[in-house]
Amino acid sequence: MKKILVTGGTGFLGSHLCKKLLEMDNEVICMDNFYTGNKLNIGTLNKNPNFELVKYDITNPIDLDVDEIYNFACPASPVHYQFDPVKTLKTSVLGAINLLDLAKNTGAKILQASTSEVYGDPEVHPQTEIYRGNVNPIGIRACYDEGKRCAETLFFDYWRQYKVNIKVIRIFNTYGPNMNVNDGRVVSNFIVQALNNKDITVYGDGMQTRSFCYVDDLIDGIIKMMNSRDGFTGPVNLGNPSEFTILELAEKVIELTDSKSKIVYNPLPKDDPMQRKPDITIAKNELNWEPKINLEEGLKNTIEYFKGVI
Ligand code: NAD
Ligand code: UDP
Repeated sequence: MKKILVTGGTGFLGSHLCKKLLEMDNEVICMDNFYTGNKLNIGTLNKNPNFELVKYDITNPIDLDVDEIYNFACPASPVHYQFDPVKTLKTSVLGAINLLDLAKNTGAKILQASTSEVYGDPEVHPQTEIYRGNVNPIGIRACYDEGKRCAETLFFDYWRQYKVNIKVIRIFNTYGPNMNVNDGRVVSNFIVQALNNKDITVYGDGMQTRSFCYVDDLIDGIIKMMNSRDGFTGPVNLGNPSEFTILELAEKVIELTDSKSKIVYNPLPKDDPMQRKPDITIAKNELNWEPKINLEEGLKNTIEYFKGVI
């Protein structure tokens, strides 16, 4: 039985990851400061004797005995990561140092939840892992983008300098149950608005694109990456290459919820990337992974979840 630390374990992705790792007969320590996480997300897991919930902030040094670390602690919605940008940077940078030190001291394998945001507003489309990105280092998204870029740098320096066993994934827009009603990201916003028959808030003209991955597919890819061959560090893109405009997403959500909502157009936030789509050739070849759940099926599951919580 492996002892696994999941940071950010009460958040959207972390809670799914904890559940899956417990189902695979591991011992799971879920660490979270509850900044955007929600105890309800891990509700039933608490009954499992192999599960432990620890309230802790990863910007502080960590002393634990573990075999594997999944670092998912960091607010991921622009609304939340921009609320306290200095804290966001500390979480990405100090958090990475503290967890890499833990990995170095214990010999644990460590996986970093990086992001497609390292590509910024990409000029290369679709994005491959060798593309170095187009990030505004002084803009309002930089606390997240540059924090995650610096965390990647730290991972690769600990790997080169201290031989820490690292795995780095770059996650593209993922959605599904356990997203917070107030998360602020586009899929949950549109579904909650549609279910309440409120206006659907499209930012800009809605022609910007994203490629949406359903959470079950992503979790499968994450675990495959942790268990990938020795020496394969990544970074590897994990996401669904099917690309949609935000307007198409709004129309699909209205259709699937049978909502009376109208689409309204609000200003586009600064530095909002205009296009995003992963090239997943490396994930296919190295991990034998590709997403199986299409947008319609994933949205239906997510809509059912939100019907239950609002
Ligand atoms: P989320 O906001 O739901 O979860 C983040 C979790 O981290 C929350 O439980 C929060 O309380 C916790 N946290 C934040 N700061 C912390 C700190 N200093 N110490 C301890 N815990 C802290 O977001 P999510 O969508 O589940 O994202 C999880 C991870 O995956 C993040 O690192 C994010 O950057 C990455 N990611 C997610 C997506 C996506 O589409 N969901 C895309 C790219 C990357
Ligand atoms: N967006 C939108 N309406 C919303 C929330 C987001 O039109 O209510 C847009 C946002 O401007 C961006 C896209 O949807 O172009 C994805 O935004 P999200 O915050 O989900 O993720 P990210 O920008 O980090 O990819």
